[in-house]
Amino acid sequence: MSNEKNTAAPAANAPSPNFLRAIVENDVAAGTHAREGLPPVITRFPPEPNGYLHIGHAKSICVNFGLARDYQGRCNLRFDDTNPAKEEQEYVDTIIDSVKWLGFSWEQNGDSHLYYASDYFERLYLMAEYLITAGYAYVDSQSADDIKKNRGNFGTPGVNSPFRDRAPEESLAMFRDMKAGKYKDGEHILRIKMAADSMASPNMTNRDPAIYRIRHAHHHRTGDAWCIYPMYDFTHPISDALENITHSVCTLEFQDHRPFYDWLLATLAEGGFFKQPVPRQYEFARLNLTYVVTSKRKLRDMVDEGIVTGWDDPRMPTIVGLRRRGYTPEAIQLFCERIGVSKADGWIDMSTLEGCLRDDLDPKAPRATAVLRPLKLIIDNFPEGESVECSSPVHPHFPERGLRTFPITRELWIEQDDFMEVPSKGYFRYFPPIGDAPGSRVRLRHGYVTECTGYDKDAAGNVTAVHVKYFEDSKSGTEGSNTYKVKGNIHWVSAATALEAEVRLYDRLFTEPQPDAGGRDWKPFLNPNALEVVTAYLEPGMSAAEADQRFQFERHGYFVADRVDSTPGKPVFNRVTTLKDSWVK
Ligand code: ATP
Ligand code: MG
Repeated sequence: MSNEKNTAAPAANAPSPNFLRAIVENDVAAGTHAREGLPPVITRFPPEPNGYLHIGHAKSICVNFGLARDYQGRCNLRFDDTNPAKEEQEYVDTIIDSVKWLGFSWEQNGDSHLYYASDYFERLYLMAEYLITAGYAYVDSQSADDIKKNRGNFGTPGVNSPFRDRAPEESLAMFRDMKAGKYKDGEHILRIKMAADSMASPNMTNRDPAIYRIRHAHHHRTGDAWCIYPMYDFTHPISDALENITHSVCTLEFQDHRPFYDWLLATLAEGGFFKQPVPRQYEFARLNLTYVVTSKRKLRDMVDEGIVTGWDDPRMPTIVGLRRRGYTPEAIQLFCERIGVSKADGWIDMSTLEGCLRDDLDPKAPRATAVLRPLKLIIDNFPEGESVECSSPVHPHFPERGLRTFPITRELWIEQDDFMEVPSKGYFRYFPPIGDAPGSRVRLRHGYVTECTGYDKDAAGNVTAVHVKYFEDSKSGTEGSNTYKVKGNIHWVSAATALEAEVRLYDRLFTEPQPDAGGRDWKPFLNPNALEVVTAYLEPGMSAAEADQRFQFERHGYFVADRVDSTPGKPVFNRVTTLKDSWVK
């Protein structure tokens, strides 16, 4: 069973209501955005290709693609690639991969709706020229420091640039010279004046926002064709309008940018560039998840400083990391649906994400046995060299999935903590005879009932083997098995046929729920025990496990064959999550 094959977005069973769905539903019913030949809802996911996507982006992807799916619309994937210095093809490729893997598609009726803001550079430029000519934009020649100083701050109005009243003809000529490469980086910028008194606006974003800057830099798609680049606040609304977006859904920090968004599109519609209705922007609260950081910069620091092995390290909250860790797209979609969307900022506990994973994997994952911290068990009265076949359902709730078989032999591996020299109260697993009392009786799951007869120790005092005798008529599934009543029941694998495998036990990346709270240094809170590597013994059938295949190792949790390091016949496993939430206090 490969979990990778079925990644189509599930037909969301009755999507739960939220404010965005209410807005879209109303607009669809009212025909707000009805246009010939276009779906009633067009959304977009607009990543900047400057890093790998993380779980926060997954929320935005699920919201945007989810709205399109639920209201017969479409969602565009658009790269907001306006910053030449930080963007790379590697990031474009991984973003495409991650969105697909999450189960979403930007293709509709054979058309691909994958776009790049850089494809609009020519049109953006012409719109900027129009805005200059119409008296809405001017070339500012202040130094960066003066621009910053004159912008004022919260509570202090800004001061008009001495270049604010530059004649449109002069600004236009200078803007053309900027484009022609006649100036150095930072010498001039192009700014918008929304109104006469914009520099005094209580909304800082309205204080003559910059829309073009000079950057003599190579762009990953347009090469050296441009040395001026449009700013995000200018590019984003125009890209939305060019793509006929209806609902431009983004996170709350863009709320202050909405007046400019609306002003720009209305002004350009007036200039004949767009038809009404133009796209509308709506904001929702970003995802904050405990025990991780979700900032591209911090994630990049972890990669660059070698704190993790790469963007796809299974401890990382990146989509590629979660995928390698063993998360399913369905679990991530379920998570995004469960947490919902709202306008109130808050924190979601990591256990919510893990809960979705367990709910998704429990019915899917075949069961298997793995001994993670092995201790030898010897059945002294079991004939040497012989073996008896045992079996167990592939999945206890789905008998139709059949049985798996594995041999029991004289020597087995059991977990170290399934034996205690001196049992604590209520301990029902193996302990030796004490005084006149016999050793404990324990069932080897799917095998025989055994009684502990003794144990071996090495010179250092470590227990090296546990000795037991077995009862031949007690085999699970036979009539005799019912006559034995035992309280202990443990898993095991045959030492003769076990598959030795590297197993990586992952824990949370940070020890603090909000490692970067208030902008503090987050590195002291890295969990030093976030990765433990053990050599485990697995039931022999596990040698056939394929990369990305997921299992439940009984009593231990969910595991996946690592997609990078597994080789045929020699899988390496990652623990996706434990069976229960071990972090609940
Ligand atoms: P970072 O702050 O980590 O650099 P970003 O928001 O700048 O991320 P973009 O590539 O611009 O990264 O993000 C693409 C989209 O994903 C944006 O619409 C953004 O609002 C959304 N997004 C980013 N982080 C989150 C989050 N934590 N929760 C929900 N949406 C998010
Ligand atoms: Mg951004």
